[in-house]
Amino acid sequence: MKMKTIPLILLATALPLCSYAKLNVVATTAEYGAIAREIGGDHVTITTLGKPTEDPHFVDAKPSFIMKLNRADVLVEGGAELEMGWLPPLLEGGRNPKLDTGKPGRVQCAAGVRLLEVPATLDRSRGDEHAAGNPHFMTDPVNGQIAAKEVCDSFCQIDSQSADYYRAISRGSPGRLTRSWSNGRSAWLHSTASAS
Ligand SMILES: [Zn+2]
Repeated sequence: MKMKTIPLILLATALPLCSYAKLNVVATTAEYGAIAREIGGDHVTITTLGKPTEDPHFVDAKPSFIMKLNRADVLVEGGAELEMGWLPPLLEGGRNPKLDTGKPGRVQCAAGVRLLEVPATLDRSRGDEHAAGNPHFMTDPVNGQIAAKEVCDSFCQIDSQSADYYRAISRGSPGRLTRSWSNGRSAWLHSTASAS
């Protein structure tokens, strides 16, 4: 009898811990990492794959990224083919159904953005690489807000117990989001300038 009660006690003490477990979020670039950190606060842990100095089309795809994707609850990416050159094989290796396209764990920020410069014809041999339109839309702070909403929607669906927390940040701090966005952007511009 005693042997059977012990696991129940363990389960009872473990349950409250589970409800406070942080969402494990992977972001493809520093910009998306900054937005996820802003919306998720202390309810999430963030791993950013691309370095601020790397071209987001050509991130050095390290094998360690596969394990990070395997363990992630959420992936935040730009989408619109921004990460097309390096992310798909990592996702395939990561075998994480939570990150499948269309699942709440897969945030493609471009989904809410009206993309500019959608080409009428495409010739990749000419170096054209923006078949879905210009994926570098985060230069516009309005699009930063749209991306933040996509991230917030995902976090609320996956971690519904913390939904009020995420919504309060998302709703109450558009100014802070814009500032956080421009700080991140100037840090990025600075690091790019130092690197070249
Ligand atoms: Zn590009």
